Amino acid sequence: MAIKLISIEEARARVLAEALPLPVESCPLPDALGMVLAEDVVSSQSVPVFDNAGMDGYAVRAQDTIDADSDSPCRLTVVETIPAGQVSTRILGKDEAARIMTGAPIPSGADAVIQSEAVEEEQDEVLVFEPVKPGKNIRRAGEDVMAGDRVLATGSLLGPAEIGLLASLGRPTVQVHRLPRVAILSTGSELVEVDRPLGPGQIHNSNTYSLQAQCRQMGIQPVVMGIVPDDYESTRRLMQQGLEYDVLITSGGVSVGRFDFVKDVQEELGVVRRLWGVAMKPGKPLAFGVRDRTLVFGLPGNPVSVMVSFELFVRPALLRLMGYRKTTRPSYRAIISEDVVNSDGRVFVVRVRAWREDGVWHVSLTGAQGSGILRSMVGANGLAFVPGGPRGVRAGEEVEFLLLREDLEEP
Ligand code: AMP
Ligand code: MG
Repeated sequence: MAIKLISIEEARARVLAEALPLPVESCPLPDALGMVLAEDVVSSQSVPVFDNAGMDGYAVRAQDTIDADSDSPCRLTVVETIPAGQVSTRILGKDEAARIMTGAPIPSGADAVIQSEAVEEEQDEVLVFEPVKPGKNIRRAGEDVMAGDRVLATGSLLGPAEIGLLASLGRPTVQVHRLPRVAILSTGSELVEVDRPLGPGQIHNSNTYSLQAQCRQMGIQPVVMGIVPDDYESTRRLMQQGLEYDVLITSGGVSVGRFDFVKDVQEELGVVRRLWGVAMKPGKPLAFGVRDRTLVFGLPGNPVSVMVSFELFVRPALLRLMGYRKTTRPSYRAIISEDVVNSDGRVFVVRVRAWREDGVWHVSLTGAQGSGILRSMVGANGLAFVPGGPRGVRAGEEVEFLLLREDLEEP
């Protein structure tokens, strides 16, 4: 049976058309990292709430220091010490100073703080050597956030700074689109778990692990359903369980082999097919569909196909479920360093090392590019797209690529 292939862009559009942001729920602040805000956050309080000292030093009345200079310092009487967390009950009088710690509320009467390093203390007096301007070293109430400010808008991505800001407003929870519940099932009678020795003809199951890691990198903890042998009944039973999740990802068994049951099982379970077959390599026999609200991805089995298909189709869908508006990686044009032959009409998605030289991106293949050669993914920080055609690309020509990670050092 021939597969009718569609383009990568068309396939992604069909996948995204089925992926709507998940319902909104309240999430404890620490768990909200990487999630998308589903409310406008309006602050009910100012931050800081009160005027406070920006330095350890002395709270003073600026007018008392007008005549200070280095030869004839003015002397102020130190009348109290105000640690952070404590509110003074006195009013600072003429020629008085209060020893004050960073973050402590400014006592009434004071309008400036002189830092400790600028003064000298003698018994219960402090010597000031130059005039201080009113307002100096005072952090004003509301200088960060005013009560009533809209500090974060629906759709904001919650990173460490946003989470810190919410905490500063005294918010223990925040409304977000909940994380997708994802199930991963690997099919294949040849597969053996990683803690088991290999028998004849067997291989270790790696797809479960790379897929799980790709999910975890997005902050999603998937449920691992393990391995199912190439047996129709077992595959049906497990895939049926997998339909309880928001997303079911299977690997393998989706091609045209005699023991490839995933497509048939999808159909029997009422999964409405949205695509089968993408004009790319690796990753051609992708079978995607929906059952009720569950997105069902039948990824091919080859270890590189699995990772590339996740990157190009599953990740964007998961991001959309999480409420992200932008679901694609940054993409650039780059000069490729070697010839890549690609004559069969499918886009060749090659794993590359990308780097920038004088503002120009370059990419170079990470070794052999077979769909089973997982080492081509190791050390790759990009996926480059070599168009199908009569000749592929030649060294020095341009290709489009996606930047997958920025943490790899440049060569
Ligand atoms: P399939 O799509 O089931 O025909 O699998 C294609 C290739 O990928 C075969 O060589 C399988 O042995 C291999 N493969 C399938 N599933 C896995 C897996 N979970 N881990 C590693 N290799 C796999
Ligand atoms: Mg198989």
